[in-house]
Amino acid sequence: MRRQPVRIVDGRVEGGYTGVFEFICPGCGDNPYVDYSEIPPRLQWLRGPRTLRAALEAYDEHLGSLSAPNGDSAASLGPGFAQARQAV
Ligand SMILES: [Zn+2]
Repeated sequence: MRRQPVRIVDGRVEGGYTGVFEFICPGCGDNPYVDYSEIPPRLQWLRGPRTLRAALEAYDEHLGSLSAPNGDSAASLGPGFAQARQAV
């Protein structure tokens, strides 16, 4: 979780930070040094951007969906929920 940089050039933040937060999950293949425009849609959705509160909720939900043992409520929000958000 970090504040979202305006832009990343050659692995460095340029132009400072926006007022929103993004969630970067290395476990899903995301990399904080790669610009938003360079990552797959699934990771773009994970990044947000979100408010701090929404970012923390997404973080909890994401980790919960990874560790859910068998089809509980967190798991049922998983891929289908992400697809629904992408379709908007
Ligand atoms: Zn992940």
